[in-house]
Amino acid sequence: MKSHQLKLKHLIMGVAMAAFFFTSIGSVWGGYRMNIDSIKENTLETNRVYAQKLASTADSYLHEAFQILGYSADQIRTKMDDEQVLNQETERLRLQNQMFNSVVITNAKGLVLSVSPPSIEIKGEVLTSIGAKEALAKKTPIISKPYEAMTGRLIIFISYPIFSESNEYLGMIAGTIYLKEPNAFKTLLGEHYSKDGSYVYVVDSDGRVIYHQDPSRINDVVTKNKVVQAVTSGKDGAQLVENTKGVKMLAGYSAVASTGWGVVAQKPLDVALAPSFDRVQEVIIKSVPLMIVSIIIVLWAAARIANPLQQLASLTEESLDKKNVEGLKSVSGWYFEAYSLKNALVRSLSFLHGQVSFFKDQSTVDPLTGITNRRTMDSMLAEWLANKIPHAIILLDLDHFKSVNDTYGHAIGDKVLQFLARQMESVAREGDVCCRYGGEEFVMLLPNTTAQEATLVAEQLRKALADTVSPCGRPITLSAGIAVYPAMANTTEALIEAADDALYLAKQEGRNQVKVAVSKKD
Ligand code: GH3
Ligand code: MG
Ligand code: MG
Repeated sequence: MKSHQLKLKHLIMGVAMAAFFFTSIGSVWGGYRMNIDSIKENTLETNRVYAQKLASTADSYLHEAFQILGYSADQIRTKMDDEQVLNQETERLRLQNQMFNSVVITNAKGLVLSVSPPSIEIKGEVLTSIGAKEALAKKTPIISKPYEAMTGRLIIFISYPIFSESNEYLGMIAGTIYLKEPNAFKTLLGEHYSKDGSYVYVVDSDGRVIYHQDPSRINDVVTKNKVVQAVTSGKDGAQLVENTKGVKMLAGYSAVASTGWGVVAQKPLDVALAPSFDRVQEVIIKSVPLMIVSIIIVLWAAARIANPLQQLASLTEESLDKKNVEGLKSVSGWYFEAYSLKNALVRSLSFLHGQVSFFKDQSTVDPLTGITNRRTMDSMLAEWLANKIPHAIILLDLDHFKSVNDTYGHAIGDKVLQFLARQMESVAREGDVCCRYGGEEFVMLLPNTTAQEATLVAEQLRKALADTVSPCGRPITLSAGIAVYPAMANTTEALIEAADDALYLAKQEGRNQVKVAVSKKD
């Protein structure tokens, strides 16, 4: 059966594949989203903790720097005029702790008494830089803002005042950090961390970069950055932020308590999420074999599910043609609906076929005349014979019926046949059966009737017909032959043959007459 309608097999395949794909995409997407979210959260938290640790390291570093400078101030306050002692002290401070790029001792006016390394030729000069001026004016321990020193370097100036035992201000001892050169920050904050795309930078309280892995960024003011805004106002935390260059960063930040500086540890979002993309790719590639296996299973299952229904459809049609249900019975009903449908079809089609043949078998009547048909007549005669019921038959044939047809047409001929049947019924007695034997030949079955009695009935019919105007507008006549069982024949065939012979004789002798047969018995 060819049809333009969607096939169940394809429908099942479509639905199954759609479900499969949406589920796969959904779970991959869901997994990816979850992965991304957890990576973001973890990275933010890691960076926050890392920034916090670095801030506290920086804090201890500055604290330690003051301690060291304070200790030196104590040592040298009685020896401010001993150049050699001062030189030793500056050299020791610079080399021993690796904390400062340079160390300087000045008197109360800012005149440089000693400097290490000596290559900075400022000995004997008066420091005029902002950091130095601030320290001289305040006479307290100070960490300066970054500024350009007399040497042209960008530096931070960490100074400690020197007081005599009588509390007279004698000057200061100060260490500097060269921001754009290898310095203690680098050792403290490290570069190793940048290898996975993360890096650290430090801003002072004004949002000016004082440490960055990229030296060109040092001294930039980055107050537009949200994280810098948060950390310079003393907050700790972590957030996704767009940096000055428009790159999205997962940034953790923490303020350095003693200076108001801010440490920011961050990783580009893209870099952090890259493994996630790789993972999705990996998941997809790894699921390809499973996907292929699933598709094969789906195709196979769809065919298995659709097959019984497809077979039922085509075999039902075949069954209607062949009028049996053997084909349908062979369909495998391996699942409930197919099984029920098959059984329902087998049952209802068997019933239908049964009914059709039943009605065919059960039709006992000739459709044109409404009297008993030939088949029924045969079975009645067989039954009478079996039960040895004596009976007579009248075999009758219309005379010159061909000419009725030829003259008045076949339809009128049919009406004449119906008219004859009514006449036969009107002469039939209780128990007599009127039959159409075929064409325009008829038989009357007369149980328990002798030849004489049968002749009376036949004559009555012959006369009635000959005297009555038929549907063709004039009377028609018949000829009849009579035979009797068991007097003249032992079998139905012989009985009919005998009656036929008698009928032939009636025709021969001029028609419109009744003849009784002679015995056919041997
Ligand atoms: P005869 O007197 O020798 O019987 O002559 P006839 O013309 O009747 O000859 P015959 O019995 O051989 O012809 C039978 C005709 O009956 C032939 C056919 O056209 C007609 N006939 C048979 N069955 C039917 C039928 O059902 N309806 C009609 N209208 N005519 C039929
Ligand atoms: Mg005939
Ligand atoms: Mg005839």
